[in-house]
Amino acid sequence: MAAASSDNKKNIKPSVYHGPHWHGFLYDFTLLQLDVKESWTFRQVFNTRCKTQPSTWLCEISFQKISDDGTVCFPVSLKRNDSNNNAVEVRIALRVRDLTKKHLHVSWTTTKEDIRGGVAIEETIKENVPFSKERSDFNRALNINLYMYILSCHSQPFSGKPRY
Ligand SMILES: [Zn+2]
Repeated sequence: MAAASSDNKKNIKPSVYHGPHWHGFLYDFTLLQLDVKESWTFRQVFNTRCKTQPSTWLCEISFQKISDDGTVCFPVSLKRNDSNNNAVEVRIALRVRDLTKKHLHVSWTTTKEDIRGGVAIEETIKENVPFSKERSDFNRALNINLYMYILSCHSQPFSGKPRY
């Protein structure tokens, strides 16, 4: 588990899997002291290096400190940065736990098909953390698991489910 530096240009190395149906990228890192930072942006570029239809991606997630009313919003953006016109499928899963009680605060998945070069997936994850103790645990230290799968670039559309 890598520690996230306050310098968000620093590379957080993903675990990478290239299989018969997909390319998988798992980022597993710790984010400390959102109460001090207020917000922190995860920003990473990755490339499938697919032998059939390679694609390049920019992922940005803005992690925000929980406000006093208990709401937290994470804008998520995954943009396909190459200019190829082939369509691929993308699956994203984000899990956010605090490090104190290992409480799972965010569990979010999405699947998008027909993503071509230049297309961006943009969503805002909204959660509510009602208890002040949980909020302070959240704002102190988080473990972030981000899974991204790129499918259908070198195989037929896959009807199974990658393991998140
Ligand atoms: Zn591929």
